[in-house]
Amino acid sequence: MDFAWTEESDAFRMTVRRFLDRELPVDWSDIARHGPGSHEQTEFSLSFCPKLAEAGLLVPHWPEEWGGRDRPTWEHFILGEEMWAAGEPRGGQYMNVNWIGPVIMRFGSDDQKQRYLPQMAEGRAIWCQGFSEPGAGSDLASLRTKAVRDGADYVINGQKIWTSYAGLAETCFLLARTGEGRSGIAVFLVPMDTAGIEVRAIPSLIGHGDIHEVFFTDVRVPETCRLGEEGEGWTIVSYALSNERVGIPRYEMSARELDAMVAELQGRGGFGNAVIRSRAAEAAAACEAARMLVYRVVDERARGVAPGTAANLARVAVVEADHKVTDFGMDFLPDCFSGSEHSRFLSHHERAIVTGIAAGAAEIQLNIVARRHLDLPKGL
Ligand SMILES: Cc1cc2nc3c(=O)[nH]c(=O)nc-3n(C[C@H](O)[C@H](O)[C@H](O)COP(=O)(O)OP(=O)(O)OC[C@H]3O[C@@H](n4cnc5c(N)ncnc54)[C@H](O)[C@@H]3O)c2cc1C
Repeated sequence: MDFAWTEESDAFRMTVRRFLDRELPVDWSDIARHGPGSHEQTEFSLSFCPKLAEAGLLVPHWPEEWGGRDRPTWEHFILGEEMWAAGEPRGGQYMNVNWIGPVIMRFGSDDQKQRYLPQMAEGRAIWCQGFSEPGAGSDLASLRTKAVRDGADYVINGQKIWTSYAGLAETCFLLARTGEGRSGIAVFLVPMDTAGIEVRAIPSLIGHGDIHEVFFTDVRVPETCRLGEEGEGWTIVSYALSNERVGIPRYEMSARELDAMVAELQGRGGFGNAVIRSRAAEAAAACEAARMLVYRVVDERARGVAPGTAANLARVAVVEADHKVTDFGMDFLPDCFSGSEHSRFLSHHERAIVTGIAAGAAEIQLNIVARRHLDLPKGL
């Protein structure tokens, strides 16, 4: 098997790197240390993403009709790797590019496509994802936020939690209940300035304005805000999540953090020890394993194969790689994780803690692998 990139792919990667070298400001590391989910970084995306769009590098894999260039799936992933390795200057807009836009292309009405896709392709749209609720995280299907029909409108009541980007988002990709069970879930595209929506920041370990509670009290939206049909919400969200499981190539960021840790240790004359070297090798191997497992999913997608358990496995491997790298740093460079200065390694560590939870808990991915891949009975 040949794992080498084509010349065209290499050239594309170099184009992205040159763009980043040119466009990231000198104080980018100050902004980036707040982390990809932070208020600062998402705000930064509003000046960065339009430039990326102008260079044809925001949505190259989208169809031309919607501002893309019909480029291959692999380019989309190369772009993701380079963006995450640089600290993800697209902020919350990576979600538009990866799954919100494609989901609207597939399930949206003509009006919804016209209203939302051009703005996303221009790099000017901030969205938030209103899925999780208190009591409905891993078990998302037990969500309780209700959307009740009233003539040509819906009236929405309920609460979402852990909502990233809600402090700046103009639109929420909201899951709400219109009936019982999974078939009673619908998706609504809700403008965040609609009366009755209240956003409250949640102070947290990663506390840079990242996560929020969002309260919906008698929020009235027209039925044209519904994406797809009333019972179609679960199908839509399953499609969205299957696309998103490998949408955050943090292994690239982790691998570069590890390089920086090793360089720091070498600078201190502390990289000669065999135990330290073997732990660094273990972390590097975990990053490569994650990369290979993600590439398997990308290859399937590029060939039009429906997403399967390879995506769940890849997601677990990405979490493992993140943890191995940050554990290495914590063990051998402990001073870089303490003190008043918020170091780059500390930022990575904070994100590594939540990475196994944020886009669906790693344990849940393992459950899926156990049942669907290893054919183990449920409950063991
Ligand atoms: C930084 C961050 C950003 C987030 N952003 C968003 C966002 O923008 N929008 C959004 O909707 N949500 C968001 N979330 C929420 C995230 O999707 C949920 O935290 C996640 O789905 C887990 O749900 P929960 O927090 O309710 O934990 P729970 O589901 O209560 O799980 C708690 C623990 O129990 C384990 N567990 C639960 N059930 C099982 C089981 N059956 N078998 C084995 N172990 C189990 C889990 O693995 C986890 O370790 C974010 C979370 C974080 C941390």
